[in-house]
Amino acid sequence: MLKVGFIGWRGMVGSVLMARMRAENDFEGLDSEFFSTSNPGADGPELGGARRPLLDAHDINTLRRFDVLLSCQGGAYTKDVFPRLRSAGWGGLWIDAASALRMNDDAVLVLDPVNRPVIEAGLAQGLNTYCGANCTTSLMLMALAGLYRAGLVEWISTMTYQAASGAGARNMVELVRQMSSLADAASEPLNAPATDAMEIDRAVTERLRSPDLPTNEFGHPLAASLLPWIDRAVDGGQTREEWKGFVESNKILATEHPIPVDGQCVRVGAMRCHSQAFTIKLTRDVPVSDVEGLIAEAHPWTKVIDNRQQPSLTHLTPAAVTGTLDVPVGRIRKMKMGPEYLTAFSVGDQLLWGAAEPLRRMLTIYREHVGR
Ligand code: NAP
Repeated sequence: MLKVGFIGWRGMVGSVLMARMRAENDFEGLDSEFFSTSNPGADGPELGGARRPLLDAHDINTLRRFDVLLSCQGGAYTKDVFPRLRSAGWGGLWIDAASALRMNDDAVLVLDPVNRPVIEAGLAQGLNTYCGANCTTSLMLMALAGLYRAGLVEWISTMTYQAASGAGARNMVELVRQMSSLADAASEPLNAPATDAMEIDRAVTERLRSPDLPTNEFGHPLAASLLPWIDRAVDGGQTREEWKGFVESNKILATEHPIPVDGQCVRVGAMRCHSQAFTIKLTRDVPVSDVEGLIAEAHPWTKVIDNRQQPSLTHLTPAAVTGTLDVPVGRIRKMKMGPEYLTAFSVGDQLLWGAAEPLRRMLTIYREHVGR
């Protein structure tokens, strides 16, 4: 039986991974154990009616007993443990949600509906490090796989609207605490018999600017506001989140000639689901109906939403998409700049296709590869 260790299983990505693996019966036939960085020895999750104690995620001797380690713990953990594990001679399969190893030459980025041949080539070469890619980048490729595959993408500019949970469990909790704090601040005018919108606005704005609003995780108000900066600065005025769009999309696709991707990444007060508005320069003028056909037929999870008011507002929102594997693409039309300029809007659950799902499927692909 393949011995698989799970690290980071109770965080945002890890919890979604666990739920998907249970739903797909993936634990069947695996010898699974669970690690903790904060509470080794405590009870692990229930599997098949039993709970095993959590193992110490920093103990290299314990980690190296596993055939496969799947980490959703985060980059700091990976940077600390992974090199020591490999130096200790561990040659097992490492599957990781974090960005720490993504750009290593011997690491493969996994998004199998889009790059299964790249993954198969990695396995055939004996590579043993597989990383989920940046969530927004994976969702962009899931949305636009059909256009990429048809060679229709000259470049893409993507403007993102990224959910609070993309920054982790504590940040998502903080968003709700901020919402609750704002509702408290405005409760008097909200509950008054004659609602005074200006009075509500004044109370909310005052709380947004007050130290009473909880901001430990984001550092700033997100509820009733937005944050036009995600991650740290890199060269050229980009944020690292924006930099990933170009480098990771081209690495996922193993492009011979890199296809430019750039834009601005913005955190908004959605709980789950990253949305993005694309401007796409096509390599040639093709009718919108062809574009829609290519997008819809790329893989089973993408859906084209009619560019009309009701379908857009019903199907193309985080509220509609959260918790599903659907990647709807809508608002598709040619732009005023010319017939080769296309715009589209897409929403995807960044915890599913943007994180947990490609990792879960990588484990399955590996099991098929080794026949265990
Ligand atoms: P997270 O929710 O912050 O969880 C990471 C770890 O934090 C958990 O495994 C847990 O470790 C610990 N933790 C501390 N307080 C917790 C709490 N209240 N609830 C749950 N866990 C808590 O991080 P994440 O968002 O899952 O991200 C994990 C990695 O995936 C990161 O590298 C991230 O960049 C990447 N990623 C995230 C997303 C996303 O949408 N969130 C998408 C793509 C990639 P112990 O059990 O060991 O204490």
